[in-house]
Amino acid sequence: MGLDVRELGPRDRSNSSDKNYSYEGRCMVCNGNMQYFFSKNFDSWGLTSLDYEKCDDCGFAVCATLLRMSDKDWETLNNRFHTEIYQGTEDPYNRAGRLAGQAAAIDIMLEHGLITQGLPLLDWGSGTGDLAAELLERERHMFSYDEYITPLVNRFSGIPQPESFSLVTAAAVFEHLKDRAELDAIERLVAPQGVLGVHLLIPREIPADPSWIYYCLCIVLFTIGKACADC
Ligand SMILES: [Zn+2]
Repeated sequence: MGLDVRELGPRDRSNSSDKNYSYEGRCMVCNGNMQYFFSKNFDSWGLTSLDYEKCDDCGFAVCATLLRMSDKDWETLNNRFHTEIYQGTEDPYNRAGRLAGQAAAIDIMLEHGLITQGLPLLDWGSGTGDLAAELLERERHMFSYDEYITPLVNRFSGIPQPESFSLVTAAAVFEHLKDRAELDAIERLVAPQGVLGVHLLIPREIPADPSWIYYCLCIVLFTIGKACADC
């Protein structure tokens, strides 16, 4: 990824920005106290050391430095990061495998009537629309919606309305959101009796390994056991 992954270092708040500050050290799952967890040195892409914090009560963890970043800087960082990791032919995070698995699961849910086909399906944070493309090969239709990238496959035009979709998927999305309100807004799109499909990594324990995938840039939220259950 081109990151200078070195070590877990001492706390350094020199990156912190008060612009557009919204994170106030409260857990967005249980409203408990967030406590300093550790710092990681990056020394790349204009960032030096990032601080991570963890909830005293439920174990929910966040990258506090990224949460305090201005919206503009956050968007710029995301664009650079995602452009870099998905360019070329490499697939370092098995994205193709995950998409195939998600499409197969949705196909099975439709086949068995777990998802009603009377309302549309929506992939929130779809990127260019790769999940919709996978489903097209199975003769299933899903809309693609992304606030930063224009989907090339089955683009949903307009703003998705609450309770309008029998399935809303958010794959590898929640860990990039900065605000609980964003999570709740996605959930509200699901119709009564509909399904919210979330795909993210939920480890039993947070590894003490600075090269762990969720310690890369642009991951702001990660969670374990109790925090997930409380969610
Ligand atoms: Zn908590």
